[in-house]
Amino acid sequence: MSSTAERGRACPHCGQTLALYSTSPFTYSDGLGWGSQTLHVCFNDECPIFVNGWLTMERYGRVGSQRYWYNPVDKEDGVLPVANHQSMRGDILGQVA
Ligand SMILES: [Zn+2]
Repeated sequence: MSSTAERGRACPHCGQTLALYSTSPFTYSDGLGWGSQTLHVCFNDECPIFVNGWLTMERYGRVGSQRYWYNPVDKEDGVLPVANHQSMRGDILGQVA
């Protein structure tokens, strides 16, 4: 959908510039970590991933949604579960350059 150069800068689902997010207080998969100090995360509340996530999570019997992320170190991307609109926002460092 987006070009290689743009990958990791803008959300492939909504096109919004990704935020730089600090992974330091956050452990993933039993503390394995991300292998990166930062992730690029879409914090757009209008993003289809986030909007549709409320429905997806409901199907699994959970309340919450999900946000798109990109790992600049291993070039992986995916979605993370979040509990509410404010989840993770405290660890935003700024915009992806
Ligand atoms: Zn998005």
